[in-house]
Amino acid sequence: MTDSLFSASFLLTSLFAAVLCLSLVLRYWLSSRQIRHVAQHRNTVPAAFADTISLAAHQKAADYTLAKVRLGLFEMALGAALLLGWTLLGGLSALNQALIPFTAHGMGQQLALLVGFVAISGVIDLPLSWYQTFVLEQRFGFNKMTFRLWLADLLKSSLIGALIGLPIAALILWMMAATGKLWWLWAWLFWMGFNLLLLVVYPTLIAPLFNKFAPLEDETLKARVTALMQRCGFSAKGLFVMDGSKRSAHANAYFTGFGAAKRVVFYDTLLAKLSAPEVDAVLAHELGHFKHKHIIKRIVSMFALSLAGFALLGYLTRQVWFYTGLGVQPNLSSANDALALLLFMLVMPVFSFFIAPLFAQLSRRHEFEADAYAVRQTSAQDLSTALLKLYEDNASTLTPDPLYVRFYYSHPAASERLARMQAIAPAVH
Ligand SMILES: [Zn+2]
Repeated sequence: MTDSLFSASFLLTSLFAAVLCLSLVLRYWLSSRQIRHVAQHRNTVPAAFADTISLAAHQKAADYTLAKVRLGLFEMALGAALLLGWTLLGGLSALNQALIPFTAHGMGQQLALLVGFVAISGVIDLPLSWYQTFVLEQRFGFNKMTFRLWLADLLKSSLIGALIGLPIAALILWMMAATGKLWWLWAWLFWMGFNLLLLVVYPTLIAPLFNKFAPLEDETLKARVTALMQRCGFSAKGLFVMDGSKRSAHANAYFTGFGAAKRVVFYDTLLAKLSAPEVDAVLAHELGHFKHKHIIKRIVSMFALSLAGFALLGYLTRQVWFYTGLGVQPNLSSANDALALLLFMLVMPVFSFFIAPLFAQLSRRHEFEADAYAVRQTSAQDLSTALLKLYEDNASTLTPDPLYVRFYYSHPAASERLARMQAIAPAVH
């Protein structure tokens, strides 16, 4: 190694190690704050909710939140160990070397490396996914899956992942090798096209492989919902009920798709728990996201961010220190594109973690805007009771640590949402 390569490589190793340590300390600190805050408020329902939420429900939410944060801490430690194992401790390099004797040079070798990595990571993740479903969710009465369904889901999603992922990966690797220095621009364009296509294909072709989507049949509700949508100037291809209860007791509703594939999906669990006016209010909130163009804004910012990411990757793939600094011995006689992709995907989240609060903040602002829209179209009363029912049913804590909320929460805390709704309600009625 030349001196300048050595120092660039050493610099990257040090930077990566330092940023990783910093993010672990920060995440640990935030989680312990959340644990302390939730535990301290476990035995008293906050005054604003005293009439609507029982102490038992409040305590269940606290215990569920604590269990999830603790599991998160374990996942964080495991994730950091794996990340170090793959990179600085040489795991990815070893896998790359181990595959060479079995594969021809070129595309075969590159795809084998990607598949090998995904398979090993998938197997390591399995016990955690099992634990989360059959121990954690089970303990709080949320899990409705049988082991058989869990296994069938796993096989199905692996198969679909391979059928879609392999050709995509092969195409991107081909672009990296064949389209010259600006490969990252072509790859970005292709990746964006694929993501747009997925927005249309996912709700109509992929989601139905996992759940049943039946047209909404309750005529009264249908009439209400259709009237609301007309009032808001909306046309959707259809109103559907999804059998969410097949897997989990958690309730939800969402608006999905694009253009002609646009549809409203209610979980059966949601319809079972909310009254018709409350369903209206929840749907109005979702429509608010559309009215305020939140979806488009999110897609545009995702496009811009990934352009920056691809450009950075385009630069990094040509730097030897990018590989050596992260514990990988690059191939001398064949392409390193798959190695570069994997390293980038492994290491990037460590750095992007620090901008996550900006996106969480933006998301919370969007939630307030959608709430305000729903209050104008329906009523603050119905939206509040709907939200509280959902918080209670999902055992979401009403007393999160404020700083933890700022960092991680995509939705504002319940108390803030209700306070804002009450504040704007009188102006409307
Ligand atoms: Zn929302």
